[in-house]
Amino acid sequence: MSAAPIAPGAYRVNLGGVAVFLIDAPDGVTVIDAGQPGKVDRIMSGIRSIGKMPTDVNNVLITHYHNDHVGSLSELAESVRAKVWVPSAEVSIIRDGGRPPPMDHRGFAGVLASRMIKMVDQSPNPVDHEVEGGDEIQVAGGIRVLDSPGHTRGSVSYLWPHEGGVLFAGDAASNIMGKLDVMPLCEDFPTAERTFVALAKEEFNAAGFGHGRPLLSAAAEAFRRAAHRYSPETAPEV
Ligand SMILES: [Zn+2]
Repeated sequence: MSAAPIAPGAYRVNLGGVAVFLIDAPDGVTVIDAGQPGKVDRIMSGIRSIGKMPTDVNNVLITHYHNDHVGSLSELAESVRAKVWVPSAEVSIIRDGGRPPPMDHRGFAGVLASRMIKMVDQSPNPVDHEVEGGDEIQVAGGIRVLDSPGHTRGSVSYLWPHEGGVLFAGDAASNIMGKLDVMPLCEDFPTAERTFVALAKEEFNAAGFGHGRPLLSAAAEAFRRAAHRYSPETAPEV
């Protein structure tokens, strides 16, 4: 599986149903999220497709505790010997294992997604660092951590402020079937909508999502247009 560029130095690896992302920077390769269980080979072939080796991976950043984002984390971290960064509010389930809370679903896409994404017990994973909103971590030349609760209580997004800015939204937003929106499955929809409006105030040119196609240009403007459906008064001007 080849990695597809979403910005210079940033790539998307489609695992089928969910995507992970790579940043190729002078300090090595950063992997964002770790896909479903059993996907390490596909992630590795994505890394090789950008001319890098598994030993070039130094950091793995996790957006939230769902099984389709941490399913291959322990195997990946072991095979590449990278540092693992996870949201502090979700560290116990990611590190020790356990079952995340159930989610509500919305619309037809939510019904479909709720059939595809099953809440299962997570296996334990290695964790090296905890992150929370406001942190700027010294990875890939500096990455900002944004609190992004709603889809899960402790979700974070990562903003790489290079190349015009690249937002790695995790599941704080999705672009399923071309509809930029909150995920149709969330623990708390009103909180997810507030997060979506907050993300629309950031500056970024490209955006990658756990689910749905990436936005390759003018991504923040697309968020601002979509944010008006939730908060016409407070959504930022396009
Ligand atoms: Zn999720």
